[in-house]
Amino acid sequence: MQLLDGKSCSEQIRQEIAQQVTKIKAAGQRAPHLAAVLVGTDGASENYVAFKVKDCAEVGFESTLVRMDESTTEQQLLDKIAELNADASIDGFIVQLPLPAHIDENKVILAIDPDKDVDGFCPENVGKLSLGLPTFISATPNGIMELFRRYSIETEGKNCVVLGRSNIVGTPMAVLMSRNTNPGNATVTIAHSRTKNLAELCRSADILIVAIGKTEFVTADMVKQGAVVIDVGQTRVPDSSKKSGFRNVGDVDFDNVKDKCSYMTYVTGGVGPMTRASLLQNTLKAHQRR
Ligand code: NAP
Repeated sequence: MQLLDGKSCSEQIRQEIAQQVTKIKAAGQRAPHLAAVLVGTDGASENYVAFKVKDCAEVGFESTLVRMDESTTEQQLLDKIAELNADASIDGFIVQLPLPAHIDENKVILAIDPDKDVDGFCPENVGKLSLGLPTFISATPNGIMELFRRYSIETEGKNCVVLGRSNIVGTPMAVLMSRNTNPGNATVTIAHSRTKNLAELCRSADILIVAIGKTEFVTADMVKQGAVVIDVGQTRVPDSSKKSGFRNVGDVDFDNVKDKCSYMTYVTGGVGPMTRASLLQNTLKAHQRR
């Protein structure tokens, strides 16, 4: 089994972006600028946003972190989005999800200017993705496609099962894998909590992409010999041996599945760093478009 090293691939991407930023600045232009809106103090969200700010600094982007209180009203958040939409110094922004329960996520996503929607969640950008038009592609699926590209993994004509149908991972992943592109051109099945004979279906997969948020759900008996297995899942479980007090566990039983795979990602250093790099790529794209 060859481990797909998202950490080193993402470092490569970061270097490529940093070189572009150097050129942008040398040409007398301002650096790309990403803003992130964080509502509340959810621990995982705090971490994700801190990484985004750090990533920006590393490649030479400007970044702005907009912190809003847990009690922020939906209207206050919509007003902040309108402000960011109108701010000519910001190329793109994200609103970190999940939001507090009293705020309607859909309303928030609909309020973001599609040209600044570097998460690729707006209907216009999701529609363009489905049509195969240039757009901001949701960071996690885009990062996985980049892994396939950089490891020259053959996807054409393969049976691909995507486990999970969320708007941010499973569904765009399935669209990308089924498109007439390279990587892509796979025969794709989307599975979810109502799918019958799941184990059998997973065993038919040459490429199995798992994004369900259930720890070590995919076991060795669900994987075909020689399959490519991508584990998107990241669930925090308490671990007193760690300084943070938790560790991340994936959706795939890595130790028992790994010997059956041709290629595989691990919960750490796999899809996560590629997701982060994709957001930087989208921000650079937003800057180039403006
Ligand atoms: P989500 O919105 O909760 O969606 C989960 C999907 O999994 C749903 O479609 C659900 O089916 C399906 N599902 C749940 N239990 C299932 C089961 N027993 N059998 C089959 N399908 C099942 O999750 P998400 O946002 O896509 O995230 C999924 C995981 O990926 C989470 O662990 C998340 O933390 C992780 N993630 C990681 C990254 C990264 O960069 N590494 C990025 C994003 C997400 P229904 O639709 O029928 O309910």
